Amino acid sequence: MKILVVNCGSSSLKYQLIDMDNEGVIAKGLCERIGIDGSKLTHQPAGKDKFVVEKPMPDHHVAIELVLEALQDPEHGVIASTDEITAIGHRVLHAGTKYSDSCLVTDDVKAVIRECFPLGPLHNPANLMGIEACEAAMPGKPNVAVWDTAFGMKMPEKAYMYAIPKEYLEKYSIRRYGFHGTSHMFVSGEAIKFGGLDPEKAKVIVCHLGNGASISASIGGKCVDTSMGLTPLEGLIMGTRSGDIDPAVVQFICNNEGKTVDEVLNILNKKSGVLGMSGVSSDFRDLGAAAEAGNHDAQVALDAFIYRVAKYIGAYTAAMNGVDAIAFTAGVGENDKKTRKAVCAYLGYLGVEIDDEANDVRGKNAVISSANSKVKVMLIPTNEELAIARETLRLVQ
Ligand code: AMP
Repeated sequence: MKILVVNCGSSSLKYQLIDMDNEGVIAKGLCERIGIDGSKLTHQPAGKDKFVVEKPMPDHHVAIELVLEALQDPEHGVIASTDEITAIGHRVLHAGTKYSDSCLVTDDVKAVIRECFPLGPLHNPANLMGIEACEAAMPGKPNVAVWDTAFGMKMPEKAYMYAIPKEYLEKYSIRRYGFHGTSHMFVSGEAIKFGGLDPEKAKVIVCHLGNGASISASIGGKCVDTSMGLTPLEGLIMGTRSGDIDPAVVQFICNNEGKTVDEVLNILNKKSGVLGMSGVSSDFRDLGAAAEAGNHDAQVALDAFIYRVAKYIGAYTAAMNGVDAIAFTAGVGENDKKTRKAVCAYLGYLGVEIDDEANDVRGKNAVISSANSKVKVMLIPTNEELAIARETLRLVQ
């Protein structure tokens, strides 16, 4: 059984065709510059050469048509006909307070995606375009929405409510949602399986450390707390996002620099984080190199990033009254042994002990703590596409 996974951005469309019999990727690819001059589709069939199509893609409908053509291409294709595709799974950013689980796309679901445009102004419109393009290109095939906010929807009220007048929750659904939910769901589930933990009771902290970074606490796979909020700006320090900040900073910059709130929010989203602190880069490899060459600001940015992760782990351990496993994932978490070790150096009070040899690993499931460690520390590569495909299969079976 084959599932097509689609992840639409405003001018991009990423896809993977996954064979659910062995969970292998049959083909994957990316449409870039949709609606802009110079549109390009890069199609990568497993075990074959890349195939590039440069044709105008005025919208996501044309993009999905070209993806389906590439998948069925006599030379570069991997299927004879779209009949082989059982269903399509879509990454959808925001479901507001409406859904806490993936669901089959219906008119009601599409209405919710539309209602949530203000909560996900960049992503939800693109996600809806992707769904409508697949409906038009493959009529009658089930489409499934897998929400990035679903995992965080299981948080209890005390974790998701902001301490602001309740009318704003009631009027505008202003609350904490959490993002990277599909990754947190996948990694916490894999950590339980790989670590041989109790699926009902395991207390797991997942550190998703990439250009965007977030951290979650879950018990038996159910989210207890997560660091991102109404938007993905809250929480950890990120590549270009500030993470937690006193909101009065916004007012102060507005008043002193003559900027609007929107302009300052743009600075907090795109020019802050380790990039803003260091003035060097948002890329952790560049920062590491600059710090090693003696750049003080780059070192402070890295130290602050690690310090914030360690503080959240402490807070989430308190929230769960303990922790059985800590899992690192995403670009930095999967590849950077120094960051993993530096975070864990703060956790001696929990009995965390890293095994340097075991920590010398990249991109595969691994236990990186020593046999004596009181908490299992793991590296679990995230795989949001596979998580979406599994959710899609679950809903169509
Ligand atoms: P992601 O957003 O998950 O794709 O992660 C991207 C981030 O991972 C970038 O900042 C990269 O610099 C970082 N990254 C990837 N490989 C490494 C590495 N070997 N060491 C440190 N950071 C890395």
